[in-house]
Order: sequence, then structure tokens, then C-alpha cells
Amino acid sequence: MACAEGFWAKLAKGMEKVNPKAIVFDLLFVQNFKAYGNTDKALSDVIKGKENIYVSMNFDNQNEELRKAIDLPESLNTNIEGDIGFLKKAEYINFKNVRGIIPELLYGTDNIGFINIARDKDGIIRSKLPVFVYKDKFYKHLTLLVALDLLKLDIKNLKIDSEHNLILSEKDKRFIPLQDNGKAYLNWYGPAFTYEYIPVWEVDKAIDKNDLKFLEDKFKNKIVYVGVTTTSSSDVKSTPLSARYAGVEVHTTFLNNILDNNFIKKTNLIFDIVISLILAAITGLIVYRSKSVSIASVKVFVLIVLYTLITLVVMHYMNLWIPLVLPIVCAVATITASYAVKYIITSRDYEHTYKLAVTDALTEMYNHRYFQEQMKLNIDNSKRYNTPFSLIMIDIDFFKKFNDKYGHQSGDAVLRQVASTIKKNIRSTDIPCRYGGEEMAVILTNTDKEAATTVAIKICEAVRQREFELATGDWTHVTISLGVATMPDNSDSVQGLIEYADKCLYIAKENGRNQVVSETKE
Ligand code: GH3
Ligand code: MG
Ligand code: MG
Repeated sequence: MACAEGFWAKLAKGMEKVNPKAIVFDLLFVQNFKAYGNTDKALSDVIKGKENIYVSMNFDNQNEELRKAIDLPESLNTNIEGDIGFLKKAEYINFKNVRGIIPELLYGTDNIGFINIARDKDGIIRSKLPVFVYKDKFYKHLTLLVALDLLKLDIKNLKIDSEHNLILSEKDKRFIPLQDNGKAYLNWYGPAFTYEYIPVWEVDKAIDKNDLKFLEDKFKNKIVYVGVTTTSSSDVKSTPLSARYAGVEVHTTFLNNILDNNFIKKTNLIFDIVISLILAAITGLIVYRSKSVSIASVKVFVLIVLYTLITLVVMHYMNLWIPLVLPIVCAVATITASYAVKYIITSRDYEHTYKLAVTDALTEMYNHRYFQEQMKLNIDNSKRYNTPFSLIMIDIDFFKKFNDKYGHQSGDAVLRQVASTIKKNIRSTDIPCRYGGEEMAVILTNTDKEAATTVAIKICEAVRQREFELATGDWTHVTISLGVATMPDNSDSVQGLIEYADKCLYIAKENGRNQVVSETKE
């Protein structure tokens, strides 16, 4: 686009004819060896002294050995009073170097603003940086400068209050809420409410033809941003509205927000964490009080929908950005975790209840019902796998007399101790049960008569050997008699085996007690 006076100079001059409120170049006019003739001078001649034309600069962190960090003209910086500590620490707005523009402009106009951007971590632009820190001084964003001029406000002195609002005018209560990182979240109105897009070639043509009607229609009394909109330039941003939003379009949103005094304030991290915990707690309560997973899930879903609506209403009417993702993640995590915990507790409860249902309280042996179940099971197993199993019936000798002599309480104590002696003398696969009263039984899976008899003798011996503590604290001896029955040798039914073992027990009693009998015939 070779042109004696330079294209941008021609464009500025052409638009100036119809008195726009402002012409804002969102372009960096840097020194360029490709520039034609006196184009730089022509441009600066147009811009110099024009109070309504603005140009851009960009800060960076270039190493000073590669490019000296120049001092910027005093006229460009701004005094900011108040709570400024956080700005000096904010990573996005503190810079070490600056990219100079052509000296004719840098030292020829005060209408220079800065256009650095800060994307969020996901690459999307949601905010602008109203002020920057360079060499310990504050500098304004291009659009903030334009807006302050348009509003006829003081561009040299700003203030920050304790809530980190950048006060533009105390009189109008006009301010930009800043995050701790120096960002100001934009309030997106959408293109229809923000700007009109005019291709530069149409303007060029109108200037060539001196089409004043077109120029007046488009630019008279208007604020004009001049910038690139092509994807080939890097000045196309992803915004909450679109993945291809030109830099100038982001500027116009920022400008409208300042002029309307209408920014979005984001809640701080502590608020976000607290609201997330509250949502998690409500979710936990819902799970705790709901009878089924599906009812709780529906309720939590409704909660999330309600919360989302609340955030929308608060955003719409109060310009307050309440967190959405974090609390929802917390709620979903809570419902998942609550069910995991609930499942574990339920299965533990079930185990506990089951144990109570099959255990005898006094002796902590299995109870009669469990004994019957296990007998049936062992008979089935023995039949299927053709293996033997045995049953030992145990009865304490002269227990009626014992009770009469020492009292029922001591009787109970001895019963408990006999049970524990039995348990200590059997294998973990054997099943010790309280058959009823002072009679106990042991089911020995996969055990033939000989092995069962050995176990019975061992138990008999152990009881005979040990001393039992009475409720009074005294110690005494007791003995037991034992009968052994084996499947398939003696019977292949529950009843048959119990009867056979009982018969053996009877013989043991007859033969003088304190002994094992495993055959009914000598
Ligand atoms: P034997 O040597 O012939 O077995 O004489 P025994 O007195 O032990 O006679 P039997 O087995 O018929 O008597 C059972 C007695 O055991 C009756 C009851 O006093 C006592 N007994 C049964 N259950 C319990 C109990 O839970 N606690 C206490 N303390 N005694 C019980
Ligand atoms: Mg008895
Ligand atoms: Mg007895």
C-alpha cells in the first residue's frame, strides 16, 4: 500500500475532516526499515497537536542487554494514591522494558496509552489491565486514557480504595474494580451493543472520492478505533463471546464499560472457597437425609441448577461474578464421596448386625440357629465332595450342683471360660457353638473320627487342667464330657449325627464323666 504520505497518515487526516470525538490507533508504530520515505514524519505531523488522536505502546520484559529500557516521557505516567501495594506485586502488570515507537510520536504527543493484554489460564481474555507499573511509575491503558479524556476527568491523578477499586471520579462514583492481580473483568455486551465495524478499504475509498457524506455518517462525533481484524495478525482473541474477537473489539467493550461505569467484580478466593464448602455441606446433608441414590442425585441436580441461576441473577443485577465451576465440582465430589462413605458404613452395619444375629451373647460362640445352618451346609458339602466331617457335643459335668454351690453368676463365668478354652483348642475352620444351656458343640469340617476324637481329648484335657475364676474371685476346677459323631460313619443327617453324639455323651457320663466317647459300641 505505497502512498507518498503513508496510509495511516492519510486515513487519520481523512477522518479528522469530519471531527470524530477520538481516533484511537490500536497499532504499534515502531521504527521500520521497510517504511517508505517520509511516512513516519507524515504520520507524526498529522497526529502531533491533535488532542483527539491516540496511539499505542506495549510493555515487555526484554533483556536490557538486548534492548535498553528507555525512560518514558513524564507526561505519560499517572500518580495513583491509596492502597497500591498489591499493584506493585501483581505479575501481569509489572514490566521491565518497553517497546519504543517512532520517536516523532513518542516525544511528539501525550496521547499514548499501553495495550498489553492478560489472558486467563485457559487462553481466554475476560479482562483488561487498566494500569501498568514500569520503572516504579504507573501508566494507563490506552482505552482508560481515551475514556478519562472523553469524560473530562483528571488523567494525572487516580486513587485506589481499600477494596481495590480504581477510582476515576469520586464525584460520579466512577470506578474500576480490580482483582488482586491487577485485572479488571469486562462486562461483555456483545457486538450489537458495542461497536460498528467498518472495513478500512471503504474508508480509504471514501477519502479518495472525498465522500464527506459517508465520512460524516460513519465518523462525525464518533469514537473510532483503528486496528487489525485479521486472523493472520495475532490481534484476534478468544473471549467469552467469540473465539475470533479482534483486539479493537475488546477495546470497545472496555471503553463502554468505563463510560457506563459498569464492570464486573469477581468474588475473592476466600469467598469462593467458603461458598464451595457450603454447597458441599448442603450436598452432604441431602445425601445423608435421602433414602436412595436417585432421589439424592435429583435433589443435588436441582441444587446445582438453582445455584447456577443464582449466579446468573447476581451477575445480571449486581455485576458480581460468583464462582460456578469450583462449587459444582465440590458438590459432585461430595455426592460421590458421601455415597462411598455411606456404602462403607452400611456394609459395616450389616456385618455387625449379622454377627449379632449369629452369636450367643454369653459365650460369644455361634448360636443354635447358626449351628443348625452349618450342620446342613457341612452335610451337603460332605455329600458332594465325599469328605468326612465331625461333630463334638460337650456338656459340663454336675453343673446343676455347681450352680447350687457357687450361684448362677459364677456358673455363667465358668460357662464363658469353658467356651474360651474350647475356642483356643480348635482350628480356625472349626465352628464352636452354644447348643443350649451348658451344652456346647463344635463342628469340624473335613475331619474324620480319629482326628475329631484327638481334638475332643485335647479340649477335655485343657478344661481339666485349667482353673476357672468364680464371680467371687475364687478359683476352682470343672470337668466336661464329650461325645463325637462323624459323617458318613455314624449318620448322614443333622438329626442322626446329633443323636449319635448325644448317645456318646450319655455313655461318657455313665462311665464316670470327664472323658471323650466316640463310639456307642465297645
Ligand atoms: P451332668 O453331669 O449329668 O451333666 O449333670 P448336670 O448337673 O450338669 O446336669 P444337666 O446337664 O442336665 O444340667 C444342666 C444344668 O446346667 C441346669 C442349669 O442349672 C445349668 N445351666 C444351664 N444353662 C445355664 C446357664 O446359662 N447358666 C448357668 N449358670 N447355668 C446353666
Ligand atoms: Mg446338660
Ligand atoms: Mg451337665
